[in-house]
Amino acid sequence: MGPWARRLRLGVRIILTNPRGFCAGVQMAVDVVDRVLDLYSDRRIYVYHEIVHNRHVVERFRQRGAVFVESLDDVPEGSLVVFSAHGVSPQIRAQARARGLIAIDATCPLVTKVHSEAIRYARAGYQILLVGHEDHQEVVGTRGEAPGAIQVVESPEDIANLKISDPSRLVYLTQTTLSTDDAAVIIAALKAAFPLIKEPPSSDICYATTNRQHAVRKLAPECDLVLVVGSQNSSNSVRLTEIARNVGTPAYLIDDAGGLREEWFRKKVAFGIRHSASGEEVAVLLTAGASAPEDLVAEICRRLLEKHGGTIEQREVFEEDIEFALPVTLKRLMREKGIEPDPRGIRVGAPVITRELYGAVPLTVEGGSSRIGQTRRLHSQEPNGGHSEGRGP
Ligand code: SF4
Repeated sequence: MGPWARRLRLGVRIILTNPRGFCAGVQMAVDVVDRVLDLYSDRRIYVYHEIVHNRHVVERFRQRGAVFVESLDDVPEGSLVVFSAHGVSPQIRAQARARGLIAIDATCPLVTKVHSEAIRYARAGYQILLVGHEDHQEVVGTRGEAPGAIQVVESPEDIANLKISDPSRLVYLTQTTLSTDDAAVIIAALKAAFPLIKEPPSSDICYATTNRQHAVRKLAPECDLVLVVGSQNSSNSVRLTEIARNVGTPAYLIDDAGGLREEWFRKKVAFGIRHSASGEEVAVLLTAGASAPEDLVAEICRRLLEKHGGTIEQREVFEEDIEFALPVTLKRLMREKGIEPDPRGIRVGAPVITRELYGAVPLTVEGGSSRIGQTRRLHSQEPNGGHSEGRGP
């Protein structure tokens, strides 16, 4: 790098949000495919739809031999098939049975909860307004539980076209990965149009979506730029980017370090990025959608620190401690192979950050939602080969 480029280029202050990345549902689904591939290295394993909406996760499994299909017609009779974390309709389950498939259901339990609510309300004679994205696999699966009773609402404009037979027997449910802000607007419009509409027993927008969004909403205003690691078809990742923009901070969704753009880190040139008061560093909030693997986050940290120099911090907004059990069919298959499944199920903890993986080691002094901002940081290696460690503020 020449002196001119060095003058233009800013250092980075990376703020890692916690929580970020894999939720318990995604971790469970990924573990399921991982274990099935290990258990049956001699058989072809099929996965119905992308197991989770992340390009890297899918590609890694593809390289290990998993075959992703969009129709069960493409799965030979008697084969092993894994249903994705987004869930499937009863029609797909029936089709799998009819074809003699061994189906391992990796549906997230929080999606299953919405299915159960749909079934219960439909049986009780309610019409169900499902707030969500019509084409999303989760919505397709939930709708399949009670096709005659469910209408999808994507925006307040859809309300005028709803066919309601009895406004006193109406309930709304939501997709698990919506923006809480957008959902609130649609729900308010539904309540204004149908004052007697019932709410779900508890929010259908899941803990992982809510927590990641809240962390971005809280921290983005103090940053110059927000980077969300995730794929374009990941609903919750796209929502994180929108939330950052809504609070006025430029935000980009990138699959991996290859998505980083030099112009985001140059003085004056940058696409509307407000640089820090000192003008010497760009404060980058780095988060990841619920389906984005942590090694991609680490790679982005390394790339930024190698190129620009700077610091890395971790802000703990929520501590998550959720455990999901392995699917029953997988446990049975494991036992058939002489492997006793761990009774503890799948649990997701905070990522372990090492200098080797991330390029620097942040020291979080205190975590938890009431302790935001109380962090110390260590400096990375400077790009010009300067000093290595030194405590930040
Ligand atoms: S984002 Fe929420 S609903 Fe989706 S897999 Fe994760 S925990 Fe389950």
